Amino acid sequence: MPVCTNCAHPVDHVYTTYKTKSNIRLGVCTQCDQFVDPLIEHPDLIILLDLILLKPRVFLHLLFNRGTPPFNATVNVNPSSTTFNINNDDDDGKDSTDVNAKDTGQWKRKTQLIEDLWTLGMISIISEIAVRILSNPNESGTVPATLGWDTIVRTFGVVVIEGVTQHLTTMGLSLLALRLKGWYPPIEGAISTDGRGEKKDGRRQNFLPLLIPLTILYTSLIPLLLQLILSIWYTPPFPPAPLSSTSTSPLSSVLTHIPISIPSSVQDDLLTLERVVVDTWQSTDKIWAGTRLLGGMSAGFGLRVLLPTKAWETTGLVLGGWVVAALVGKAAEDWLGP
Ligand SMILES: [Zn+2]
Repeated sequence: MPVCTNCAHPVDHVYTTYKTKSNIRLGVCTQCDQFVDPLIEHPDLIILLDLILLKPRVFLHLLFNRGTPPFNATVNVNPSSTTFNINNDDDDGKDSTDVNAKDTGQWKRKTQLIEDLWTLGMISIISEIAVRILSNPNESGTVPATLGWDTIVRTFGVVVIEGVTQHLTTMGLSLLALRLKGWYPPIEGAISTDGRGEKKDGRRQNFLPLLIPLTILYTSLIPLLLQLILSIWYTPPFPPAPLSSTSTSPLSSVLTHIPISIPSSVQDDLLTLERVVVDTWQSTDKIWAGTRLLGGMSAGFGLRVLLPTKAWETTGLVLGGWVVAALVGKAAEDWLGP
């Protein structure tokens, strides 16, 4: 069942079709009086831009509404389910055909989501392998000219192990958090009946665990592709460029110009600290760090739209996946060789 992209209220249909496929009418949400899902009419480019801008409506559209069957006004002439009464709470008139149609719809949705997960997973694995090979220069500071199959297979192994670990960890932690909250798996009867004063949540009614890795893949893809494009021109520093001891650092010139006398041991400590900071900054792959940070923030944002968790909880879910994946990835790298 689709959801309203404005308030996540569950609805029966996103739009209604009339005699021809091009003659459609967008459904209106009974909860917020807005169009249920205007993105259904938008080209893929707008959806991609919305994804880059991390608009909440795009996640609800991609995860819940894409591919859901419309209400066909010419076939289903049922006065109780017009577009303006899309969320009919009275289910008494439901016959077996409705139930069958719903089951087929659910099955189609699951198939579509699994297909999306595979496609995004593959793009993400290929991009990640390319990024790692491009940003892993040899000792002369250039990308290896001869690229052996063993390098590709090893990188593939590490990337897959890391990726699967990250998604399984985040999914496991998320499902644990949802179970503790009593949100998922649903308690029998708690969802179908509209709780008094409690707003219906379409996300909860249509939740599937695979939506968690799917959301992370949607959000991580743009930063990953950005990293891939940038790594074509950018070579990370290797080996770390040390700060020349003869050059005057900004801090030492400040220390010589201030009128207060500072003990020489403190001055030395400050200069050492400055050198460590500068060295670390210079040897860090800034593109890698920046895009990873962007990916993590995007994933957190996407999961906040999907899950009822608080900001700090979502951060914990994303970080947990990262940390475990990094540890397992390191172990896999050691195991598979340099
Ligand atoms: Zn709404």
